[in-house]
Amino acid sequence: MEHRIVVLGAGYTGAVAAGRLARRLHREDVRITLVNPEPDFVERVRLHQLAAGQELRPRPLDAMFAGTGVAVKLAKVTAVDVDRRTVSVSATGAADAAEPEELEYDTLVYALGSGRHDGGVPGAAEHAHEVSSRPGALRLRDRLAALGPGRPVVVVGGGLTGLEAATEIAEARPDLDVSLAAGGGLGDWLSEKGRAHVRRTVDGLGVTVHEHAVVDAVEADRVTTADGRTVPADVTVWTTGFAVHPIALATALEVTDGGRIVVDATMRSVSHPDVYAVGDAATATGPGGKPLRMSCASGVPMAWQAADAIAARLAGTKVPRVPIRYFQQCISLGRKGGLIQFVTADDRAVDRVLTGRAAGFYKELICKGATWGVAHPTAGLPTRRRRVAQQRAGSPARARAAA
Ligand SMILES: Cc1cc2nc3c(=O)[nH]c(=O)nc-3n(C[C@H](O)[C@H](O)[C@H](O)COP(=O)(O)OP(=O)(O)OC[C@H]3O[C@@H](n4cnc5c(N)ncnc54)[C@H](O)[C@@H]3O)c2cc1C
Repeated sequence: MEHRIVVLGAGYTGAVAAGRLARRLHREDVRITLVNPEPDFVERVRLHQLAAGQELRPRPLDAMFAGTGVAVKLAKVTAVDVDRRTVSVSATGAADAAEPEELEYDTLVYALGSGRHDGGVPGAAEHAHEVSSRPGALRLRDRLAALGPGRPVVVVGGGLTGLEAATEIAEARPDLDVSLAAGGGLGDWLSEKGRAHVRRTVDGLGVTVHEHAVVDAVEADRVTTADGRTVPADVTVWTTGFAVHPIALATALEVTDGGRIVVDATMRSVSHPDVYAVGDAATATGPGGKPLRMSCASGVPMAWQAADAIAARLAGTKVPRVPIRYFQQCISLGRKGGLIQFVTADDRAVDRVLTGRAAGFYKELICKGATWGVAHPTAGLPTRRRRVAQQRAGSPARARAAA
């Protein structure tokens, strides 16, 4: 009997985990199913570019996983039952759309990512746009295209996504009146050089910055801040963080208050050992005892770690440790520039930065590299696949010998 591995979500982390598992394990021993509602991989780190009017290259999952042994299932996950080890899905493929179905698993990899998070601020859900999902980015793109010269756009949130969105929109549409409402000081987590570069760039692009502006209400034509300021806005873009899907919260899995699955250093659920969780959907402890932040930077190594741990445990071999640490924060500031802020292993800014076109080029390389890793799911690993020990009714040593 094959060991059934079901991977939920074909974003950066689910796709990488599925490909790595396929490369690590013997095809006769496992059946790997990758569940995703859409037929193509979404380059989420470029959604602000999509919103600003650029086209993203289509990346069909079928072509990516052809010949790898991973079966792509077009379906939306509606529930997970970790006691019965089943996943409820409704198909989204053309022929069988909306057909409900139950998938059984022996090992589950949960990688459903995250979406918009408006923190319950009044009016945000109704009036604010977002760039955390492709449909959201496309709606924003249409809305921006309909705006005439001089109309006000406010990006709420001064973090990485807010900076990227505000600069991208301002560069693409210099005729608009773009502003950025940051809850703290502009780039206040960056080094002095990093902050200065961000300041120069946003000034150069004509972005008005409202600092220490905690937005507490959104209306159709404005936002207001906790200290009473009003910023006119025909379009509000909300970027204050990401929230995870409520699916995990509804299971018996141990999750945080926000619904992220709590995992150990091998990305295994601390409550259910046959469940692994990676990427934005999971919370793991990183260097310095701090939780890893929602990002590709930590999500991709999480996926490597989960796949390697699953393969090793199934084969009865020693579980390897994939080092997870940060090296830099890569921030695009429009298409012509950027900032690479180098950081400590636990993500604190150091003095060293790369700026301007070199930084834009570096960031582009990182984005391309992340997508290349997804698009070539089985590249770069040894071709000898391990046998699954319990399927062969043999000892771990025998399984090793068979590898
Ligand atoms: C505009 C923007 C810029 C960013 N820039 C950076 C950056 O420069 N560097 C960086 O490290 N991070 C960046 N991030 C964050 C990064 O994109 C996320 O941390 C990363 O995508 C998380 O990977 P993931 O696999 O967990 O989730 P995702 O990439 O979001 O993938 C989740 C997958 O699950 C699927 N899914 C969702 N719900 C269901 C369901 N019910 N059933 C089945 N499938 C489902 C989705 O369709 C998707 O394919 C950025 C994010 C945004 C929005």
